[in-house]
Amino acid sequence: MHEIILCKLGEVALKGLNRRSFEMKLMSNLRRRTARFGRFRVYSKQSTIYVEPAGEACDLDGAYDACKRVFGIIAVARALPCAKEKEAILDTAKTYLSSALTAARSFKVESKRADKTFPMTSIQLSQWVGGHLHEAFPHLTVDVHHPDLTVYVEVREEAAYVHAPAEPAAGGLPIGMGGRAVSLLSGGIDSPVASYMIAKRGVELEMIHFASPPYTSEQAREKVLQLARELVPWCGRLNVTIVPFAEIQEEIRRNCPEDHFTLIMRRFMMRLADALARDLNCRALVTGESLGQVASQTMDALAVSGDVTDLPVLRPVIGMDKEEIVRIARHIGTFETSILPYEDCCTVFTPRHPKTRPHVEEVREMEQALDVEGLVRRAMEGREVVKLR
Ligand code: ATP
Ligand code: MG
Repeated sequence: MHEIILCKLGEVALKGLNRRSFEMKLMSNLRRRTARFGRFRVYSKQSTIYVEPAGEACDLDGAYDACKRVFGIIAVARALPCAKEKEAILDTAKTYLSSALTAARSFKVESKRADKTFPMTSIQLSQWVGGHLHEAFPHLTVDVHHPDLTVYVEVREEAAYVHAPAEPAAGGLPIGMGGRAVSLLSGGIDSPVASYMIAKRGVELEMIHFASPPYTSEQAREKVLQLARELVPWCGRLNVTIVPFAEIQEEIRRNCPEDHFTLIMRRFMMRLADALARDLNCRALVTGESLGQVASQTMDALAVSGDVTDLPVLRPVIGMDKEEIVRIARHIGTFETSILPYEDCCTVFTPRHPKTRPHVEEVREMEQALDVEGLVRRAMEGREVVKLR
């Protein structure tokens, strides 16, 4: 029989009546993410989703890595099915887990029996398999409290399964269950992390990026697309809408006080993201803002930039230190790309003394000097969509 992947459900299992729809969503996400690694049969039983190779040419390593990043799954294990007979179970454990058994100093066997017609109880089965494994690997001691290795045996309807401890997976909720949002993606460290955190809560994301050629380079744009590509294994398919931003920046520089430059620019970002959200039927905006990190992220500044949209602005890293954000960026694999040195549009015209305690009425007043509607309309007309799969 072929090795398979067992995916253990996380919070999904708690969702009562919605549970079935969560499971269906999760299975369709798993099907889509594993499709590029071969043909797999994906089905669920007893809070576990089975991902089973259905053809010869399946890349199980690739599928296993993909499953680990599917939100809604709390742990994954590779398992080998075998006949529901104690000898077959023992032989499978001996060969399938031989290197783990050789490397461990202590072990135990834990059995579960969903098929109650199996002639031994779980405890009897664990003792029998454990005893014989001990004979085969005499260097091992049995330790039921803190073993180096736990050998799992599950006797289910169709087969028995043997596996080593499950590895932690992505957790969270299945993408698509939490609605849709527009995420403002810059080339920095914070916004990819913020995107990941909101996707983890089951939200399907549409990305928006503001680019200011000729002030920002082709490499800066490519860097943002690369970040989005690195988010695909977590977030699923992504569209990145790239919106030209240079005209807006030039107009602000020409017409508004320098110390308010960044703030007004951020209000335009929110307006454009809001326009895209309405276009794409998204119900929230996501940013990588962190309280106090820079002048445009003080409490007063956040009030001023949030003033131009009625949509909820989700800021999942708002209370995090940079080190905490960096830790997540490394974990999800975006950090190395984020620290590449290309200019973001935010760093093009930065004021020497940015206002940290702005007043929303004053800022609205300053914007009277601009054709806000026309600037937003022209920027949106110049947008380009890059689809990532
Ligand atoms: P990051 O590390 O994500 O760049 P940051 O700390 O540098 O964040 P800012 O540059 O002030 O902060 O931007 C705050 C947030 O505004 C970003 O996290 C992102 O959500 C959004 N943002 C900034 N620049 C852009 C851009 N060019 N395109 C899209 N969104 C942007
Ligand atoms: Mg930035």
